[in-house]
Amino acid sequence: MHMSIALITGGSRGLGRSMALHLADKGIDIILTFRSGQSEADEVVRDIARKGRKAVALQLDVADSATFDAFAASVKTALADTWKRTNFDFLVNNAGIGIHAPFMQTDAAQFDQLVNIHLKGPFFLSQKLLPLLRDGGRVLNISSGLTRFALPGHAAYAAMKGGMEVLTRYMAKELGERRIAVNILAPGAIETDFGGGTVRDNEQVNAFLAGNTALGRVGLPDDIGGAVALLLSDEGGWINGQRIEASGGMFL
Ligand code: NDP
Repeated sequence: MHMSIALITGGSRGLGRSMALHLADKGIDIILTFRSGQSEADEVVRDIARKGRKAVALQLDVADSATFDAFAASVKTALADTWKRTNFDFLVNNAGIGIHAPFMQTDAAQFDQLVNIHLKGPFFLSQKLLPLLRDGGRVLNISSGLTRFALPGHAAYAAMKGGMEVLTRYMAKELGERRIAVNILAPGAIETDFGGGTVRDNEQVNAFLAGNTALGRVGLPDDIGGAVALLLSDEGGWINGQRIEASGGMFL
């Protein structure tokens, strides 16, 4: 049977970590990346090993596209050394940060940081990694519920995620000739360190969001890890060029 490998950016914490663990439970091996949290990334690698799967953690700053050639080379080496393979199966563009700033107060430095991490990064990283993604593989980008509903303080961030949703359709169209399906998952508010951990740690914010979610609570990392495992399953192969929201029904 064909053994699959998923590359997840930002797999050391939060949603990426949960994605890695859920995919490992489905028998998929993992390449995960971290920016600075090597010890947390190593811990995820150990957790995956305990599940009987292989995992490798690589350093990557998605904001620095000048490093992507070197990163692709390190992926190639990891594939050869750990799996004796020349390609992998699934790319998940997950890594990211949140900056809370109202539209009128967002400065150019914040905008540039967000565009580099959330739009330019996934654009050129995907471009550099696609030669290593097997024909018939999949790309899953990560958006946000904030592209569908507007909550003050997220104008620049949500604009980048909206850009990723358009890019997803173009990638799906152009990569179809290699039978690569490309989709984008939009999580609602989830309890992680994201944006300073506000959704998890601020009781008022948590209650407001839970009260506007049909299922009556905010999301947990496992809600998204599970959704990613579902979308990357064999049964999900005909889903292509779509935005899929996993928010428990926020602001319906
Ligand atoms: P976390 O802060 O919990 O984790 C972020 C992860 O991304 C870490 O592994 C971190 O690595 C990595 N990372 C951050 N910046 C960079 C960078 N410049 N280059 C490479 N890696 C980086 O965030 P979440 O898990 O919550 O968020 C993951 C994705 O989900 C993001 O794209 C976010 O926009 C999206 N999202 C999150 C929602 C939420 O409510 N949590 C809702 C909707 C979307 P390190 O530990 O080394 O810093």
